[in-house]
Amino acid sequence: MTEILEPTEKNIIKAAKSIRQDGLVAFPTETVYGLGGCAFSEKAVVKIFEAKKRPRFDPLIVHIAEKDDYKLLCRIIPSPAEKLIDAFCPGPLTLVLPKRENVPDIVTSGLDTVAVRIPSHPIALKLIQYSKCPIAAPSANRFGHVSPTQAEDVLSDLGDSVDFILDGGPTLVGVESTVVFVTEEETILLRPGGIPIEDIENVVGKISTKRKMSKLLSPGLTKKHYSPKTPLYIYEGNIDELIEIDRDDYALLTPIPLLVNDISMVPLSQDGDVKEIAANLFHQLRSLERMDYRAIIAIPVKQSGLGHAVMDRLIRASTGTVKIENQKLVFIDR
Ligand code: AMP
Ligand code: MG
Repeated sequence: MTEILEPTEKNIIKAAKSIRQDGLVAFPTETVYGLGGCAFSEKAVVKIFEAKKRPRFDPLIVHIAEKDDYKLLCRIIPSPAEKLIDAFCPGPLTLVLPKRENVPDIVTSGLDTVAVRIPSHPIALKLIQYSKCPIAAPSANRFGHVSPTQAEDVLSDLGDSVDFILDGGPTLVGVESTVVFVTEEETILLRPGGIPIEDIENVVGKISTKRKMSKLLSPGLTKKHYSPKTPLYIYEGNIDELIEIDRDDYALLTPIPLLVNDISMVPLSQDGDVKEIAANLFHQLRSLERMDYRAIIAIPVKQSGLGHAVMDRLIRASTGTVKIENQKLVFIDR
């Protein structure tokens, strides 16, 4: 049976003990809830893949508590990586670097690189410290589904396959970490996330965002991901036309409140603050999929700062796009 634990000192110690015995613990980070197991235990890592029904070709992020522990897992720390670690760790930034032999191949899906990050959430940090080992932890959802931002989401997706869930309330950032591949010569964006691209460029200069490159380097970045059960379509067109639509069987997911006719509207923020939008995104997708709408129509957000991560998740959650022709919604599957 899965036990949901208040994050008291005693309970974090209890959860850490389970990690040391190859158990699985879901825990809050500043981004989303993670499903953690000891990164050095093949047995625990196999359980992570099985609980999530995650394909083995999709490598895991290893979570550590101290900057020095990068050296424990990575063979080389190029100088741009050192700068990024100093600037953003702990925080929602994951670095992909050449791995040491002690990192089991199952963690990295056989790649010779490992993805490592230091979460900034106090419960996550304590769990790692008390476990006395790095924790491999993907998001604690069923593979392909929307990532969990609260303990109940973990329970409803993973049921009894996790030993403990540390309940730290809703997560603050709400989207996953930014993932970058770093060499001495260049930094390549593999996944936009909690640390804006612009902030990274302020530290290491222009970074490469070539999609083809990320696909090659990061096999787990599937096109369709983060999907709610209700199909989601990205709106392409004029907002004025959309708000005239009279359809109560569709839900409209918008960055800010809009005055609409009869369509149900779910604003992700009150005034367009992209931090608020990111923090609410997954929670609202999960709420909407429980409400039996025919489809969710999402209005795009501005692609700057955290907006890159929000659009990335919306596009990968989507079944296609929607536009208006002759005052009617036209859905186009991708
Ligand atoms: P998640 O655990 O769901 O947050 O996803 C982590 C993502 O990080 C994976 O889907 C990969 O795309 C990426 N990743 C993890 N490890 C590596 C690696 N060694 N090389 C490239 N990308 C990685
Ligand atoms: Mg995930």
